Amino acid sequence: MSSCVFCQIVEGKIPSAKLYETDSVLAFLDINPINPGHTLIIPKRHATSIFDVDEEDLKECAVVAAKVARAVRKATGCDGMNVLQNNFRVAGQIIDHFHIHLIPRFENDGFLTSWPGKPYGEGKMEEMRKAILEHI
Ligand code: AMP
Ligand code: ZN
Repeated sequence: MSSCVFCQIVEGKIPSAKLYETDSVLAFLDINPINPGHTLIIPKRHATSIFDVDEEDLKECAVVAAKVARAVRKATGCDGMNVLQNNFRVAGQIIDHFHIHLIPRFENDGFLTSWPGKPYGEGKMEEMRKAILEHI
C-alpha cells in the first residue's frame, strides 16, 4: 500500500468526502477546513509538488479547480476565495502529494488578506528577471 495519504484516498484505501472526479483528477473536502467548504484538488497520479507534476494533470487540476470553485461558492455563499498551492515545508506543505486548495473566504473571517511586499533595490529586479530567464 502507498505511504502517501492522498494516494491512499485515490486508491479508496482511506475514506474522503469526494466532490468530483475525472480520469486523472479528484476533488474532495479538506478534513480540517480553514472555513467550511475548503476543498482540495489532486492529480490521481502521484506528484510531490509544482516542480514535478505532469503538465496534462496540472491542466486538468486547473479546470476542475475552477469548476468546483463555482460550486463551492454557490453552496457556501462565500464572499471570496483563495486558491492556494504549497510546495515543501518552508512554504507550509504538509502532505507531499501535489494539491490545490480552494478556501472560501467570508467578510471578517479573521484570516490574512495580504502579505507584506518589499520593493527591489536599485537594479535588482532586472537582475532577477535575467537570472530566471536563463532557466526558462
Ligand atoms: P498542505 O499544508 O498544503 O500540505 O495541506 C494539506 C491539507 O490536507 C491540510 O489542509 C489538511 O487538513 C488536509 N488533509 C490531510 N489529511 C487529509 C485527509 N485524509 N482528507 C482530507 N484532507 C486532508
Ligand atoms: Zn501520493
